[in-house]
Amino acid sequence: MACRNSAPWRLASALVEKRPENAEGPSPEERREAAERIDEARAGNERLVASLTRLWDGVVEASTQANIDDEHDPEGATVAFERAQLRDALKQARSDLEDLGRAAERLRAGEYWVCERCGGSIPGARLAARPTTARCIDCAGKPL
Ligand SMILES: [Zn+2]
Repeated sequence: MACRNSAPWRLASALVEKRPENAEGPSPEERREAAERIDEARAGNERLVASLTRLWDGVVEASTQANIDDEHDPEGATVAFERAQLRDALKQARSDLEDLGRAAERLRAGEYWVCERCGGSIPGARLAARPTTARCIDCAGKPL
């Protein structure tokens, strides 16, 4: 997961370095775009959580009705695996939604472009690629 995400923002950061005017801070338009991006992602994520929750409820209901033996029935093992995958997907979607909520709060507080760790600025292109990030590229690579 981390590997898949690392490439796009490295590329984006290279682009933003060619725009020194960006160092002044985000323009009203950049603020608006960031807000729209977060809102859009939140709406999509809320739909995802809702549909995964429905699927999960269905799986739970089906498994109680079928009385499947996860441990010994080969079919049960598949069901257990699918259930675990679904549970993880739901957990991830909820966690993403929380991250988006935090990003929205940071935006409201005017902290969206400020690295939570070093206080430096986070390039707009990095935030465009990763709307929930709260760290600059240098700090993102460091351990907590
Ligand atoms: Zn930083």
